[in-house]
Amino acid sequence: MPVYVHVIDHPGGRVLVDTGMTESHPAVADMDPRLEPLNEQRIDLDSITAVVNTHLHFDHCGGNHLFAGRPVYVQRQELEDARMQDDYTIREWVDAAGVNYVEVDGEFELLPGVRLLPAPGHTRGSQIVVVETDEGAIVVAGDTAVWFGELDEPVTEGQRLIRSLNPHQVWLAHADESWPARS
Ligand SMILES: [Zn+2]
Repeated sequence: MPVYVHVIDHPGGRVLVDTGMTESHPAVADMDPRLEPLNEQRIDLDSITAVVNTHLHFDHCGGNHLFAGRPVYVQRQELEDARMQDDYTIREWVDAAGVNYVEVDGEFELLPGVRLLPAPGHTRGSQIVVVETDEGAIVVAGDTAVWFGELDEPVTEGQRLIRSLNPHQVWLAHADESWPARS
């Protein structure tokens, strides 16, 4: 299963949604992750002005430490659960040195035309990023749906929210292509 992160280039800044993993950890070693960390790819990490975590499972926040000092937007509920609940994530990756969370409570406009919306389901503190474009809304959905079938037949509040936006494209963290498939 691939783990993708997404970059939103906006005149007001360059936003990274989720940060993947940069190393393995005894807690996930049995999954034998093949690492392609952000700091070893052709992306200028210094150009990122803000980070959004859709949620704080380990495969979405493992690179947060690369962005020490820059704002990392997360729903307050998600941060609380990641810090308080056992077996939720890898806590030292969540609270790596210098990670600077901006806690969001509900809907939030990050930049003009770029909104964070709570999308409970995969976790109760999950959020999605909605980018308004000329073609319609583009959604970066994290794990609100893990595979396309969950958007075809939505069950959770977050999945139904995505469908209600009538999006042009939805990007999932673990899918190679966007939904809906276009021929
Ligand atoms: Zn997850």
